[in-house]
Amino acid sequence: MSLERIHTLVVGGGQAGIAMSEHLSKQGIEHLVLERDRIAEKWRTGRWDSLVANGPAWHDRFPNLTFDDIDQNSFASKDRIVRYFEDYAKQIEAPIRCGVEVKAVTEKADGSGFVVETSEGTIEAVNVVAATGPFQRPVIPAVVPEETGVFQIHSNEYRNPQQLPEGAVIVVGAGSSGSQIADEMLRSGREVYLAIGPHDRPPLRYRGKDFCWWLGVLGQWDKKTPDPSTEHVTIAVSGAHGGHTVDFRRFAERGMKLLGKAEQYQSGVLHIAPDLAQNIAAGDASYLSIMDAADAYVAANSLDFPEEPEARLIGPSPDCVTNPILSIDLAQANIKSIVWATGYALDFSWIKAGRFDGKGRPFHDRGVTRTPGLYVLGLAWLSRRASPFIWGVWHDAAYLADHIAQRQMVLPRQAQR
Ligand SMILES: Cc1cc2nc3c(=O)[nH]c(=O)nc-3n(C[C@H](O)[C@H](O)[C@H](O)COP(=O)(O)OP(=O)(O)OC[C@H]3O[C@@H](n4cnc5c(N)ncnc54)[C@H](O)[C@@H]3O)c2cc1C
Repeated sequence: MSLERIHTLVVGGGQAGIAMSEHLSKQGIEHLVLERDRIAEKWRTGRWDSLVANGPAWHDRFPNLTFDDIDQNSFASKDRIVRYFEDYAKQIEAPIRCGVEVKAVTEKADGSGFVVETSEGTIEAVNVVAATGPFQRPVIPAVVPEETGVFQIHSNEYRNPQQLPEGAVIVVGAGSSGSQIADEMLRSGREVYLAIGPHDRPPLRYRGKDFCWWLGVLGQWDKKTPDPSTEHVTIAVSGAHGGHTVDFRRFAERGMKLLGKAEQYQSGVLHIAPDLAQNIAAGDASYLSIMDAADAYVAANSLDFPEEPEARLIGPSPDCVTNPILSIDLAQANIKSIVWATGYALDFSWIKAGRFDGKGRPFHDRGVTRTPGLYVLGLAWLSRRASPFIWGVWHDAAYLADHIAQRQMVLPRQAQR
């Protein structure tokens, strides 16, 4: 196979790879994006059928293209998001080669760049940007063994309620994915249990503004690192059905059985941690704290926003919170499936250069790794809270392109190409 040379190689043609391409072009840097499947593949095949964006159209986009055919306060469908990124790639004339997988990246012995093994031959590059997503390898905790015969899938394989065998379902994890999937299962007429861990649940709208706006003006998208105590706290929001605040009490009123953390399985019985009330209370506190901060912002800036005292009313705790279920006999409860909405890990095993911590996370500063010329983009908290999201990744890509351009100026001549 032939040897191709390129200045900067971007791996991954999702939103991160497209943003990177735009900023590299602006810097006049020759580059190529390799995508193993299709543009925005994860939005096409890595998510459930009914998914819509969690953030409204005015926010969940790049600065240089709007969603011109939908209400700016509505939530784009996943298919519309795919079309958005296809259009964007065309608009910026991104050099994306689809259907090419990067198999391995190694550092050249003389330190002048990288050798990239792909499914279509070898490429040499001065810089490599790994834009392979924040959610690379689905994680299912080893709680319920496969031999139990219960149908178990990760949320990335969930498509719709018809996919699951008849019977009751447990959804584990109450971030945006878990809470939306559980809601959809309940609407389809299933008996649903939802295992709820620590979570934040911002109000979808408050005093006339949506949560993306509030998190913006309150500086929360710009937070640099998670508080150590909330590092594993997931955020529960939903753009589904026109968008709504995730309220687990309402789920319970509609018949959903809320559970604490699914802990261990023994002889047909799933044991549940006694932490449901605590997790619900912490979620309520996070909900109220956003409104406290929003009220303070309104007052400090003398804004004429309508008051909304009713948003602060939190209903009584449902029976499943006050008398928590601490174990479930799966057969007796007719539980035939479990959907694990339990998040993802990174998998950079194809990068044979650079240094990674015990969890496979690269050591980096705003995406600049300790190996000159090797960059990562799109990861959670890469530079701040907004980093893995559509709007945030575009800004992180600008920083990396700038870094690459500066590096280009100081590289020895033979290493510039
Ligand atoms: C259910 C769900 C809903 C979300 N909703 C929103 C939302 O509403 N708003 C928002 O802002 N964010 C949302 N996100 C977060 C984030 O925007 C998405 O995860 C987004 O897909 C991340 O884009 P990315 O380009 O960084 O990574 P990805 O979309 O994962 O793209 C990475 C690409 O790299 C390719 N690739 C991987 N390995 C290789 C390789 N070795 N060689 C070649 N190609 C490779 C993959 O095929 C993929 O296309 C959501 C995430 C999930 C899971």
